[in-house]
Amino acid sequence: MIRPKMQDSKNSSLEVLVPRALVGCGERIAGANVTGEGLCSLKINLKDGFVANIEPIENPNNHSLEILLPRLVESHAHIDKAFTWKNFPNLAGTYAGALEANLKELQLRTKESVLMSAEKALSLSVRNGFRALRSHVDSLGTSADKTWQVLLGLKDEWKELIHLELVALVPLNYWNTQEGNSLARKVASEGECLGGVLTPPFKEEEVRNDLQHLCRLANELGCGLDLHIDESSQEPGAGLKQLLYVLDLMQLDVPITCSHLSSLGLLKPRLLEYFSNKLLQHQINVIALPLTNAWLLGRSKGFRTIKRSIAPISQLQNAGVNVAIGGDNVQDPWFPGGDFDPLMLMAFSMPITQLAPWNRFGIAPFTTAPSRIMDLEWDGTIDIGSPADFILLEANTWSEALFLQPKRKIIIKGKFLEENFFEVDKRRNDLL
Ligand SMILES: [Zn+2]
Repeated sequence: MIRPKMQDSKNSSLEVLVPRALVGCGERIAGANVTGEGLCSLKINLKDGFVANIEPIENPNNHSLEILLPRLVESHAHIDKAFTWKNFPNLAGTYAGALEANLKELQLRTKESVLMSAEKALSLSVRNGFRALRSHVDSLGTSADKTWQVLLGLKDEWKELIHLELVALVPLNYWNTQEGNSLARKVASEGECLGGVLTPPFKEEEVRNDLQHLCRLANELGCGLDLHIDESSQEPGAGLKQLLYVLDLMQLDVPITCSHLSSLGLLKPRLLEYFSNKLLQHQINVIALPLTNAWLLGRSKGFRTIKRSIAPISQLQNAGVNVAIGGDNVQDPWFPGGDFDPLMLMAFSMPITQLAPWNRFGIAPFTTAPSRIMDLEWDGTIDIGSPADFILLEANTWSEALFLQPKRKIIIKGKFLEENFFEVDKRRNDLL
């Protein structure tokens, strides 16, 4: 078990600015001052790792207040291949180039390389303020067993600091094979999820059969589903159309998430409305991944209209669909940037998605929405009785918080995490 260096909070009360949309205690804070950016001036008392009381601060101008956020949730990552850009770059920045480099890396993957990637990813995630992370895992080929063994070991090692959830990522038709069936049973025995990739072009009938088989398997084993679907700038919504066809025919008894849905942003309004309502009807969660989509998709040469394949987050939210935003790839062939930093993800996403954290729909994709997708005990709303798990920022406006890289303190169960809480290099040998 990782035993991080923690410091007791000297003072068990925090005087802070909290996004109004994330404060859950209604009447009790009715008189609190709220800034134009929706930040609520509050005194939060902590006891035994939980919030014991919340009250408004009467004269906020007389206090030095800092922004307090709940620790955040990364609902879509790939920690098995993070930081492989250096050896497997995709300089053209295309989807095809990324896949090619990824497959090369997969052939050379070792237990050591997965451990280095994943442990660095978890360490950064904790230090930067994530409390839970869902990672897709390349599960095809000879390295799959080793990869799962390392990641399940890390999941247990790190469980006090961060909740890790895994999704087996394979081509959709792999689940029809004997090897796919064995993989699904292993994944189910560990309580993890099944995944797959559904991106055009494809043969409709084959894809429907594959989806039907996968949904039946998920029902039988009780595994949640999370698909990479319509990560494309071609044939808008083609993959989702096939999924909806299958779900209209059968009852799916497990939670389902569609990651990407980038090409939905290219649909005509009436079709987008239709798909949004169907997503709601089938209780399908959506995880938008604006950074990788903005980088990889819709590249064109010559004089052509620029089309951005980005999931239409606001439209889906307005239809009632639960939408999270994830970071997806970090410094691997699919995306050269990222650092498992929720604030960097929020800052990068802002101009691409045009969502602002001072609005409820702007903050939900990083807090309550991914918590629901991962079925976490706490949805990130700060209320009496909620865990004292916070990010405290040396900032008092959203501009400073997101764009000035302010100092941050991480509070876990009411205690401050010390800097350099974990030296990755010292631990590696113990885990191999
Ligand atoms: Zn992904």
